[in-house]
Amino acid sequence: MKIYNSLTRRVEEFIPNEEGRVSMYTCGPTVYHFAHIGNLRSYICEDVLEKLLRYSGYDVKRVMNITDVGHLSSDADTGEDKMLKGAKRENKTVMEIAKFYTDAFFSDCAKLNIKTPDVVEPATNCIKEFINMIEGLLEKGYAYKAGENVYFDTSKLKEYYVFGNQNEDELMVGVRDDVTEDVNKRNKNDFVLWFTKSKFEDQALKWDSPWGVGYPGWHIECSCISMKHLGTKLDIHCGGIDNMFPHHTNEIAQSESFTGHKWCNYWFHVHHLNDESGKMSKSKGEFLTVSLLESKGYDPLVYRLFALQSHYRKPLTFSFETLDQTAATYRKLKNRIANIVDEGNVDEAALKEWHEKFATAVGDDCNTAMGLTLLYDVIKSDHNGATKRRIIEDFDYVLSLDLLKSKETEAIDDELTSYIEAKIEERAAAKKAKDFAKADAIRDELASKGIIIKDTREGVIWSRG
Ligand code: AMP
Ligand code: ZN
Repeated sequence: MKIYNSLTRRVEEFIPNEEGRVSMYTCGPTVYHFAHIGNLRSYICEDVLEKLLRYSGYDVKRVMNITDVGHLSSDADTGEDKMLKGAKRENKTVMEIAKFYTDAFFSDCAKLNIKTPDVVEPATNCIKEFINMIEGLLEKGYAYKAGENVYFDTSKLKEYYVFGNQNEDELMVGVRDDVTEDVNKRNKNDFVLWFTKSKFEDQALKWDSPWGVGYPGWHIECSCISMKHLGTKLDIHCGGIDNMFPHHTNEIAQSESFTGHKWCNYWFHVHHLNDESGKMSKSKGEFLTVSLLESKGYDPLVYRLFALQSHYRKPLTFSFETLDQTAATYRKLKNRIANIVDEGNVDEAALKEWHEKFATAVGDDCNTAMGLTLLYDVIKSDHNGATKRRIIEDFDYVLSLDLLKSKETEAIDDELTSYIEAKIEERAAAKKAKDFAKADAIRDELASKGIIIKDTREGVIWSRG
């Protein structure tokens, strides 16, 4: 398998620390609001990566945190805790907010066929581990106390910008009008490990610590939760591209200073989903969620297909127009698969060959679009129905598009399908030309053959009446 590594900025052959086994860590959601479909693009791509590793024969252990404390309004150490903001917005406690949005997140993931990681750990479960790592960093001289907070001292590192692409401008992350500079920091990039004093005195959740009652910084969470479950050497760490700096940069700084050795070998970053006006953000007010797509009549798996059609290392722009096209593609694809009659014996040699082809093609840095091309190649191939269905099932382990589950479609022979599809297109053209009489006539013609068509937001759906 090959994977692009943000650390070396190259596509590399993937070699885990331990043969056949992979430890994988994913930055989980900050549960102060629903996940938007941008967040979910990251989780879909990471799901594909995990499944691809398993598909290629690796035994994967995947861990994800739930950020329920410490993530401030800017990714640097300023602003209010996002969780507290959510609690105030809804007049609930922070823990109620965390529970509600954690459940909502996993419900969205289930709708998108995103597998739940093997371990899911909320940050508030691991205060002991955070304190232990911070104590270690203080002992080793990598941290200091100032203004009643504990900070990581970035001047102690040989190299801080490990991803190599930061410049001074990017350091302005989160510096906005309402945010004042923290005068306790010795160096501009130093970050908080433990707060006992922040501008926001009403922080809801606080714990006792050797430095006073307070709460952890956001970055320390991921280092500790990863080490708690996966040890001090990690194979793959994932997250959205915005997490690269400062979050992942700081995770590496503290993890490697604490252990004294290299921590994680491969960094997998998913580029952003943007809307037509720019970056998607939860703080923007109304934002796109899975429930919103459902309320407009879309099957959530249409969004999964939308994400799989593009490469994870390219920004992707969302529009309902493109989603409509994807919905039509999905419908046609499922119709074609529904028409493959399960007959004959499975050709095991062919199955093995296609499995390897898929593992190599998609395994070349998660090339999901190539996986979809192979899927069409299988559908068009000369294999018997049973073999085709078995290969499609095999691919669908990674694609997870419910390709063999039929909903409103049922098997109808290829010739009839082409005829119906052509009629539907003819009817759409008639409607566009405002020739409604012709459009109705086409519908009646299909009805006379027992084919019922229904106009939905996802496009036209047909079934046997
Ligand atoms: P958050 O809930 O804000 O902690 O973010 C959860 C995940 O979504 C992180 O891995 C982010 O990097 C990622 N993310 C945030 N915005 C986007 C976006 N517009 N497109 C793709 N991923 C995103
Ligand atoms: Zn993280």
